[in-house]
Amino acid sequence: MLEAARAKARAAADAKGLPVGLASEGAYGPHPAIPFMPIGRELLLWRNELTGHEIVEMIIDEAPCFDQVTASSMSDVEAFLDRIEFPETAVIVSPVGHGIAPLAKGVQDRPMVAEAIERAVRESPEDRAVIQSDMRAHMNRHRMGVIARLSERFAARLATPCPSCSAPGFGIARSEAGLPCGDCGAATQLTRSVILSCGACHFERRAPRPDGRMYAGPAECPECNP
Ligand SMILES: [Zn+2]
Ligand SMILES: [Zn+2]
Repeated sequence: MLEAARAKARAAADAKGLPVGLASEGAYGPHPAIPFMPIGRELLLWRNELTGHEIVEMIIDEAPCFDQVTASSMSDVEAFLDRIEFPETAVIVSPVGHGIAPLAKGVQDRPMVAEAIERAVRESPEDRAVIQSDMRAHMNRHRMGVIARLSERFAARLATPCPSCSAPGFGIARSEAGLPCGDCGAATQLTRSVILSCGACHFERRAPRPDGRMYAGPAECPECNP
């Protein structure tokens, strides 16, 4: 994701003849820990081509609008369309069958969905169509909302100068596990502190976790609840 965002930011800087570029990149897929649950990641990257200074902010989307259904007619997809908040989220319609390209993308009109399903069923060796939420940001209202939240955080970060060199964009680079258990004091896998970092001079500072939580519960402790 970082490489893709960097390439976009470079292309933006080139296109405008400016020393800096800003880009967003998203990735959606299965949740690493919870079966059948999707998860999304959205990233914003600001880059100064002259100095190599980069500012990156990322957000996890625990409930993305990322879904699909197979159907042979419009009546099979009504519940799906409600679930993804169609037509604010558009759909992609493809015939079911290996290696067949989508027939229609960015569809936001009900009669056009019905027509695309009919065509897809005709072209499918299995007589079925697959209807997916369109994950392109401009076609997915939920994604737009997540990117908007990320943008607010990003703007706040851009406005935060490094305490050492005063470059913009001082903020969280990574977190450290080890939040102590409130009962026995053992270190848990939960975040204990965050490392704030400057992308220009690489100055770093450790800080307590931003939500102020000081202890883990015994249920989250490897000693109390092995
Ligand atoms: Zn404990
Ligand atoms: Zn700095």
